[in-house]
Amino acid sequence: MENEYLRTKKILIVEDDVSSRLYLNKILERTGASLLIACDGREAIAAAKANPDIDIILLDIQLPFIDGYGAAKIIREFRSDVIIIAQTAYSLLGDREKIIASGFDDYIVKPIFPQQLIEKLTNAVRRL
Ligand SMILES: [Mg+2]
Repeated sequence: MENEYLRTKKILIVEDDVSSRLYLNKILERTGASLLIACDGREAIAAAKANPDIDIILLDIQLPFIDGYGAAKIIREFRSDVIIIAQTAYSLLGDREKIIASGFDDYIVKPIFPQQLIEKLTNAVRRL
């Protein structure tokens, strides 16, 4: 359903797995946010450069060419203000430190549940 915090936002979804990409797109399109898609780290950086009005980047960690850690670091160099949220398959100890050190604001552990994702993005926007 439409979300008052996300409705006006532009969100970049970065995910290399096609079914996960469609899944995230389906969840987030219901919020009314405008959505952009990238399939790997290089595309994510290019999309962030080409669209300086992106508010949130939902960035997978395991990606071809440049992984999520590397992409976040590069995007941070020209977008200090954008919200970057990692999606990670790992719930390993130590991941959190590496994620925060790479410039992410927060992270979500896969499998991603719709309500949890919406809440995480809404909370990130509300903190601004
Ligand atoms: Mg992946």
